[in-house]
Amino acid sequence: MIKLHDKLFKPFLGETRILNAVQKMASDIAEDYKDDVPIFVGVLNGSFMFVSDFLKAYEYPCEVSFVKLSSYQGLTSTGIVETLLDVSENIEGRSVIILEDIIDTGRTLQKLVNLFSGANVKEFKIASLFYKPDVYNGEYVIDYVGLEIPDSFIVGYGLDYKELGRNLKEVYQLNQTNMINLVLFGKPGAGKGTQAGFLKEKYGLKHISTGDVFRFNMKNGTELGKLAKSYIDKGDLVPDEVTINMLKDEVEKNSDAAGFIFDGFPRTTAQAEALDNFLESKDMKIDATIALEADEDVLVARLLERGRESGRSDDQDESKIRNRFDEYNQKTAPLKDYYSKQGKFHSVNGIGQIAEITERLAKVIARFS
Ligand code: AMP
Repeated sequence: MIKLHDKLFKPFLGETRILNAVQKMASDIAEDYKDDVPIFVGVLNGSFMFVSDFLKAYEYPCEVSFVKLSSYQGLTSTGIVETLLDVSENIEGRSVIILEDIIDTGRTLQKLVNLFSGANVKEFKIASLFYKPDVYNGEYVIDYVGLEIPDSFIVGYGLDYKELGRNLKEVYQLNQTNMINLVLFGKPGAGKGTQAGFLKEKYGLKHISTGDVFRFNMKNGTELGKLAKSYIDKGDLVPDEVTINMLKDEVEKNSDAAGFIFDGFPRTTAQAEALDNFLESKDMKIDATIALEADEDVLVARLLERGRESGRSDDQDESKIRNRFDEYNQKTAPLKDYYSKQGKFHSVNGIGQIAEITERLAKVIARFS
């Protein structure tokens, strides 16, 4: 295990495995381009080691150039890609092969393709040493891939975490084992949001409330918001597929979190299964699900009060509130069995002073963290 800044990383890919993959890419590309004189364009900074080993393994005439783009800050892709070093001018009519160190979401790739789109090249190909099929948006074909890897944060062999780790000969993976991932269960009004607010501060976790994400999208009039509104206004659940994809996006946007509090998700067995599979693909897991128990009549009174204060449309009408309880009893309550079978279900009395309830939750968390 190595430590870079505040994070621990564990060995993932050894030097031989990496060099074999580079060698194989060089011979596959040589097979297609040995009669041409391609220009290899390395994408800085991450690709410098890959480009160097690749060129040593490529035994035919070729040229090399670099571009520099940036979209990462720390562990998370910011989504904003800047061009820091532009394409050289003499590429017209030439075969250009991009050498990327890693392709994950594909945002940087999109910017790269834009950079070359006006250049009138003979051929444009993309080669990436590492590739994350689980998160790639699939917009462009990736012509040559060295190694497919799961979606976890990696460093070494040119790749960095806040600029450290580029000089490592091997690749290391972020160590997720000391993460805490919690599911907060409870009927609408049980206090999940309030308690999540305290727990996230106490344990440094990222709070994801699917209800809040939907409301944010509704407020901003996005396609997702428009779609969700019709269900939310009636107190029905939004379809699983929509909710699951949204949840995955939220987790992916926060790959540097010390753990997550899932609030309002999962609400169906299909969502719970999707969450388990998704977390497993990232070397993560749910540690505990905690239900905040409260009587429905107490909750109706709480929600009507909240509706008066917040203006939330689904909190103002008792029949919509009762419909949400029905949805919970039918679709969400069975998750108690799902998590009990995994030995991860805990329940806590949700009636009392807010601080008392936080204390009850902290006692449960202390048992496994
Ligand atoms: P909440 O704020 O958690 O009570 O959620 C408000 C509304 O958003 C719910 O009544 C549903 O219509 C929708 N919603 C939130 N989370 C989910 C989910 N996991 N699955 C389906 N619908 C959801």
